Amino acid sequence: MNTVDDKTVVREYFNATGFDRWRRIYGDGEVNVVQKNIRIGHQQTIDYVVDWLKADGNLSDITICDAGCGVGSLSIPLVAAGATNIDASDISEMMVGEAKERAAAELDHPSAVKFEAKDLEEISGQYHTVICLDVLIHYPPEKAGEMIKNLSAHADTRFIVSFAPKTWYYDALKKIGEFFPGPSKATRAYLHPEAYIVKLLAENGWKVARNDISKAPFYFSRLLELVKA
Ligand code: SAM
Repeated sequence: MNTVDDKTVVREYFNATGFDRWRRIYGDGEVNVVQKNIRIGHQQTIDYVVDWLKADGNLSDITICDAGCGVGSLSIPLVAAGATNIDASDISEMMVGEAKERAAAELDHPSAVKFEAKDLEEISGQYHTVICLDVLIHYPPEKAGEMIKNLSAHADTRFIVSFAPKTWYYDALKKIGEFFPGPSKATRAYLHPEAYIVKLLAENGWKVARNDISKAPFYFSRLLELVKA
């Protein structure tokens, strides 16, 4: 499957069955056990990023790009924490529509974040911080380098990225997870060896400043904050 096909599949998935599934996972209504587990793990990732940015004390001064923003799970709490200038985008119009509704309902200053439907590759301009959470799972390893190169070039100071790390243990868990009944697992999920991602980042002039890992049995994500080497 080439990238164009992968992207078409991903866009169509997140505009249809994937939208229903992930809107529920990234919400607070009833979900099944596996989905609840993913919700808890994903929330850990969001909390780590919000805590890092709050701790830096300059949230209201920096420009942020939230690439592959989903339903706004990161951008909305960042605005609530004081961010004033976020451009958030996602390849799925449905995810972006939901993000706009949630921001309007939940935020006092929803205009602090602008949501737009577009591919990561269409992002333009420069930002203090570019953040891309749990999107690399949709990129095969041979496309990850190009994605990291293009996206991180829009970051002047900091790049924050999370991905599902590839280890024998997580590989095994992923296979077990695939046995569980449940609709809409229609997209391929790619795990990436951490050393490989760090090497790709280093090739683009980035070094790890902070890192964390979010773990719940059916969600695992390595979070890296990169600064200029
Ligand atoms: N970053 C969000 C979060 O953590 O809540 C959403 C994560 S979700 C697992 C992956 C998101 O990436 C989906 O909303 C999907 O539409 C988006 N996505 C996948 N490929 C993309 C691309 N090439 N450009 C923009 N968004 C993309």
